[in-house]
Parts: sequence; C-alpha cells; structure tokens
Amino acid sequence: MFNKMTVRDIEVKDKRVLVRCDFNVPLKEGRITDETRIVGAMPTIEYLMDQGARVILCSHMGKPKGEFVAALSLAPVAGRLGDLLGKPVHFISSAAVVDEEVKSQAMALESGEVMLLENTRFRPEETQNGEGFSKELASLAEIFVNDAFGTAHRAHASTVGVTAFLKPAVSGFLIEKELAFLGKAVEEPQRPFVAVLGGAKVSDKIKVIDNLLSKVDGLLIGGAMAYTFLKAQGIAVGSSMVEEDKLDYAREMIEKAKKSGVELLLPIDHRVARSFEDVPAILTQDASIPEGHMGLDIGEMTIGFYQEALLNARTVLWNGPMGVFEFENFNKGTLAIAETLAMSSATTIIGGGDSAAAVTQLGFADQLTHISTGGGASLEFLEGKVLPGIEALNDLKEEKQ
Ligand code: ADP
Ligand code: MG
Repeated sequence: MFNKMTVRDIEVKDKRVLVRCDFNVPLKEGRITDETRIVGAMPTIEYLMDQGARVILCSHMGKPKGEFVAALSLAPVAGRLGDLLGKPVHFISSAAVVDEEVKSQAMALESGEVMLLENTRFRPEETQNGEGFSKELASLAEIFVNDAFGTAHRAHASTVGVTAFLKPAVSGFLIEKELAFLGKAVEEPQRPFVAVLGGAKVSDKIKVIDNLLSKVDGLLIGGAMAYTFLKAQGIAVGSSMVEEDKLDYAREMIEKAKKSGVELLLPIDHRVARSFEDVPAILTQDASIPEGHMGLDIGEMTIGFYQEALLNARTVLWNGPMGVFEFENFNKGTLAIAETLAMSSATTIIGGGDSAAAVTQLGFADQLTHISTGGGASLEFLEGKVLPGIEALNDLKEEKQ
C-alpha cells in the first residue's frame, strides 16, 4: 500500500487531470468556518497548474444522500479556492455533477486552468461505487489523481470506481505525505516508539489498541477509555464512563502488553467532578475515584508520569484527547501532552479528528511533525487496514517494468 505512484512520476503537461480532493469543510450559513482541508490540497493543485495540466477537481461535501442539496453545494469552495489560487475556478452547479455542459467545460479547459465539479454525493451512485457514474467521471479526463486522504477508507465512485476506467491513477502530495508519516511511524518507527491513546470509547479504538500493541514500546492511556482499563483491574472509578462489555477486552490487552514487553501505563490520579460540566476540577489522591464522581481528565501526577515516559521516545503517535478538552477545567492533560510533544525532538504524529482539533485549538499545530488530515481514515490506517482509495492507485514498480 505504500509504494504508490505520485503526480511526480507522470507527465501531466496539457493533460486533463481529474483530482479527487477532500473539500468536505465545515460550513455555517454558506461560509467556510475552517479551510484547513482546502489549504491542504493546494500543493497538488498548484503543482499541476505549474506543470501545465488542465485541472478538474472533485470532492464530496457532507451527506446529501444522493440528491441535490443547495446548502451542500461546493460553490463556496470554488470561490475560496479561486482566492487562494489567485485565479478563477470554473464551476457549474449541476445536480448531475457530470452533464453535457460540464463535459464541454472540461474539454474547453486551457492548460493551467482549473475547474471544480459539484458535490459528488449529489449522485446516489457515488457512495454505492456505481459503474455508470465512475465512467462519467473518468470520461472527463486522461489521468486520475487521488489526494483525498480523508475519504481513502471509502470505496466510492470518485475514489475507487473511477480508477477502473481512468489510468494512470496516482496519489497527490497530501496522500503521499500521510503515507510517509503515518505509514512510516507505524511500520518502521525510530525507537522507542510510544503511543498515547485517549478519547471517549474503548470500543472506537479496539482495533487500534490491538494493532499498536504489536508495534510500540510503550502505550499511555488517558481519556474516558482509561476508566474501563482501571475498572478491569478492580480500581474504583466512581461514576466515570465505563464500557462494562469491554472489561474482558481491557484485561486481554493488559495481558497482551505484558507478553509482548510493552509498557502499558494507566493514569495514577485524575481530575474529577460530580457531573459532566465545566466546573472547577477536584484532584484525586491516587488512581481510585470516589463514589459519585466522574473522571474528566488525567491528574497532575499522571501528567508528570507520562511526560517522563515520553522523554526518551524517538517516535510518538497520539490519538485521542486525555480528557474533556472542550471544558477549560478539564483540558490540562491534553494541554500538557501537546506541550510535551511540541517541545520533543521525537517525530510526533497526531491522528484522529478531535485530537487534531485539540492540538490546533491549543496552538501547537506547527510544532508537531505531522497532523493527519483524515479522521476516520487515519483511524482505519492505525487499525492496520488497507485503505481502498490508496490500494486502487498504480504501484510504482508495476509501471516502471
Ligand atoms: P479522536 O477523534 O481524536 O479519535 P475521540 O473521538 O476518540 O478522539 O475522542 C474525543 C472525545 O473524547 C472528546 O470529545 C472528549 O471530550 C472525549 N473525552 C475525553 N476524555 C473524556 C472523559 N474522561 N470523559 C468523557 N469524555 C471524554
Ligand atoms: Mg472523534
């Protein structure tokens, strides 16, 4: 899955190139509230323009369920992209995404020009990976580029289906970068390799924990999932979030860690409250949580303990906040880990939507080695799964033979 051709490996001059981007940005009353994903796609788009390609962009946005939804039109993205590129981006808001008018626009595109198709999910065939729509998309271009890491875990018409009718299919710089960092961190990390896992649920991260346990030297657990692990060991957790049906699994993972010589660390103190609210935190004395209280963040001793465990790491992978970072009284653990990673000389990689939002919100984004742009996709990657959108791209060797 790692040895894929990129835009650098092919000649694109004067060619019509269909580029699958991830322009699924948050919108509020027609305005883009976070343009990270648009900015993330710029290097590939600008490279193709500079090389004299005729650039046809496509993406999905939200969940229109196969029909035209005006509020989910990509029109605002076309506008913002035009500003960023300093050049107008041609855009036809067609419910069919590909129709005669769109086709003629694609055929009339000059080298270095850019157009954007309408939201691919306006077509029901998109999420069904339908052949008809895949062929229509393919008919617009001579080369396919996938740069939508955030949707690489979905086999849809615009990510996988289209590659059956449009070759070569190569990756853009964003997917290349994700593979280089996420892939390399997990498959050939510089050691010690330590993973920090947190977030809401054990059940969301079961496969991630399982996969990482065979690769890491240390695993630090925080967030709500810590309480399931603590309870599994007979420690009192008060009214903290616990997944009762995952207690056996937690015990199994503790055993697995022991057997594979992985240091699995759990919080030794907590910040708790009587209810799920942003009220001043109460620090516990030790790992146990008093009756009627719920753990909402890791405590001071745990912060020190985890910082020490991260001191010698050469690679750190972090997924899942250490507490309810949305509450100011319970963002201390997440803040401290973010700070520690920002200061560290290790390769530091952040995966997961909320974790990425947390480090960005706390102001550490530019001091970390890599923040994955794909929430669900990076999780599936960390679970050790093959991502269909990447698998469908041409292998480097295959082409050169
Ligand atoms: P990611 O998107 O990075 O994979 P998750 O979605 O697994 O992360 O978890 C993020 C959520 O976990 C946050 O909304 C956060 O408030 C919540 N969370 C973290 N710690 C706790 C806790 N102790 N109790 C309840 N929720 C928690
Ligand atoms: Mg999340």
